Amino acid sequence: MVRILIVEDEPGIALALEDDLKLEGYEVEVAGDGETAGRRAREQAFDLILLDVMLPRKDGFEVCRELRRAGLRTPILMLTAKTQEAEKVLGLELGADDYLTKPYSRRELRARIKALLRRAAPEAPALYRFGDIEVDFARCELRRAGTPVELTTLEFKLLGAFIRHRGRVLGRDQLLDEVWGQGTFITDRVVDNQVANLRRKIEPVQAEPRYLRSVRGLGYRFDG
Ligand code: CA
Repeated sequence: MVRILIVEDEPGIALALEDDLKLEGYEVEVAGDGETAGRRAREQAFDLILLDVMLPRKDGFEVCRELRRAGLRTPILMLTAKTQEAEKVLGLELGADDYLTKPYSRRELRARIKALLRRAAPEAPALYRFGDIEVDFARCELRRAGTPVELTTLEFKLLGAFIRHRGRVLGRDQLLDEVWGQGTFITDRVVDNQVANLRRKIEPVQAEPRYLRSVRGLGYRFDG
């Protein structure tokens, strides 16, 4: 399911957006201020962030700048009440992917969201390199410093999910959905075991994972 973070401090607007997007089939969370938005965006893997500019505690520009500095690649659609060209340009320069000026039509918003999601649809590249590792997804082969390493199909799928979402925290629930498939009933322990297996094959030092890091209380993040 596509997850969208709505960052909007006016409850009426936030609620209308939430209803509309839920009707479209998206899973939605609302953050009412800039600080909460920045925190939630880092804690959870959202597919898109709708970011209002005028926000309490921290404005949308600041939130956008911080998230991009932290390496987050989630598409950001800025919602601005300001009509000055300079403001729009600033948002894009800070790393927003698109902007809409209020008032906008629901139809336009839906179209922009769809376009951004299409553009961002994560695909694992056919060949991916990190450190001394080369992953060939087309042939299902992994080489470490040129030497082939055996990976199970599941480990390949897991690594593929991490690479598609590199730099983002993936919770065990999301890994379950993406790797095992929705509706599969296995425990978090199974996910952890598979991650441990994968680490044994890709990490130079087991005790101090460099690529596949644990994010306490949240899940894992691939930084390769
Ligand atoms: Ca506002």
